[in-house]
Amino acid sequence: MATTQVPGAQRYLPDRRTLSALREAAAGCHGCELYRDATQTVFGEGRGAPLMLVGEQPGDQEDRQGHPFVGPAGRLLDRAIHDAGIDPELVYATNAVKHFKFTRREGKRRIHQKPGRTEVVACRPWLIAEIDAVRPQLVVCLGATAAQSLLGAAFRVSTGRGELLNPPTGAQCRPPVLATVHPSAVLRDRSDRRDEAYRAFVDDLRVAATAVTGEHRLYDGAV
Ligand code: URA
Ligand code: SF4
Repeated sequence: MATTQVPGAQRYLPDRRTLSALREAAAGCHGCELYRDATQTVFGEGRGAPLMLVGEQPGDQEDRQGHPFVGPAGRLLDRAIHDAGIDPELVYATNAVKHFKFTRREGKRRIHQKPGRTEVVACRPWLIAEIDAVRPQLVVCLGATAAQSLLGAAFRVSTGRGELLNPPTGAQCRPPVLATVHPSAVLRDRSDRRDEAYRAFVDDLRVAATAVTGEHRLYDGAV
């Protein structure tokens, strides 16, 4: 697949890499084409936290409100975080791509479009900078877009989910990574297996919770 050349986010990164400096700089990012049609950059939120959750990209509600995971997928995620016994205060939530990609149907409804590899790669410097600033013990990738951003394009959630993995050196992501499904995939599952899909999602989050708060600390924050 041909990849379009885009400048990427790297040139927009500030010298000072605190979360607030990063958020401010990301608001002006033109690292790929997605800023053109979206309302605003949706940066990650939370304090320096042991657990970082990475989604795909902001959805319609997130784009309007400027906060990650405030729409339907976010509500399911909140419930799953609760059911996995995770304190929401210990979570920093962000996305692999920081602008909403969509098409307009009949001038009205905005339909989510999956970001391509070009956009994921263009936006990755923000994600890496967030990981460096937040210094989580574990990064949880929600769905293939986030997982492939940190674990490589060949990674498959279906075979690699629920395990603590060390990202390849080239990914510049120091903490271990655990991949699971995206909450939207659980929402979209209209079959009678939806409860099962939800339980498997919560089970993966429990593995993450145990890795962070349990006795087997994989990452002590030391560089
Ligand atoms: N889906 C995502 O991946 N991220 C959000 O912030 C909202 C929905
Ligand atoms: Fe920049 Fe990422 Fe937005 Fe593209 S999606 S303009 S790289 S913040």
